[in-house]
Amino acid sequence: MLTIPRATTIEHYMSSTRNPAPNDVMSQPIGGEKPGAEVQLEKKGEINALQRYRYQKWQQNTIDSDPKFSCILLDTEEDLREIAQEELSIKNGCAAPGGNPTERLRSLNIKFWLLSLKWWYCRSNLDDFELRAFKLWRLNPRWYMHRALVEECIGRQGCCARACGCCQKREISPGRSLGVGHCTLKCACCQKSRGFEVSTMDKKQLKDQFQSCVKGPSHRVTRYRQVSIWGLVGDSEEDPSNMIDAPPSYDQVKKCKC
Ligand SMILES: [Zn+2]
Ligand SMILES: [Zn+2]
Ligand SMILES: [Zn+2]
Repeated sequence: MLTIPRATTIEHYMSSTRNPAPNDVMSQPIGGEKPGAEVQLEKKGEINALQRYRYQKWQQNTIDSDPKFSCILLDTEEDLREIAQEELSIKNGCAAPGGNPTERLRSLNIKFWLLSLKWWYCRSNLDDFELRAFKLWRLNPRWYMHRALVEECIGRQGCCARACGCCQKREISPGRSLGVGHCTLKCACCQKSRGFEVSTMDKKQLKDQFQSCVKGPSHRVTRYRQVSIWGLVGDSEEDPSNMIDAPPSYDQVKKCKC
């Protein structure tokens, strides 16, 4: 049987046997704590280096660099954009004829709400390094006008491929801030420019293509995720915010000259 020396108080006994000393407690890392190197980069304000550091730590931490939650997050954002753009079409009287607009708006509102929850669950499941990088990058409300994402829109024949400037000036209400970004198949301006309706089967095929684009593995996936989540592109050490509304890249200029 355990005997406590008479001179020892219960408090002293408890602290000496079960609880580490206060200093030891503070030195034990808990989930979400930043390593010293990260804190230093934050203090220096070197955003590109900070995001790269977080990217590398995320790659080391993640089992097989499993990008599951960020992939679903990006796919969900595409769905949210689609709804926001369809709502705009209906409100501006540009929607395809047929159907009841009020009823359609009501069902889109429910869908948007459900997808917002899905987005939040995915965001909450990001690894700590990835989450901190994501939060920092998305602090900039114009993150989606990063040069690389504009190029993506051009490649997908969105409004950035024309002179209309819809992606820059699309009027997304504060309640639809999760739906900001480039054109989807529901962009009214793109629909008008195409001059034809994309069939349900083709829409599904394009959606599948987008999903495989964000789920990978491929170089395209890596680039798309890197810039959408982290604001990073492989050919630049610039602060990601300086690449927003930046002049066209070499690739783009070359394409225009062809
Ligand atoms: Zn468009
Ligand atoms: Zn447009
Ligand atoms: Zn665009």
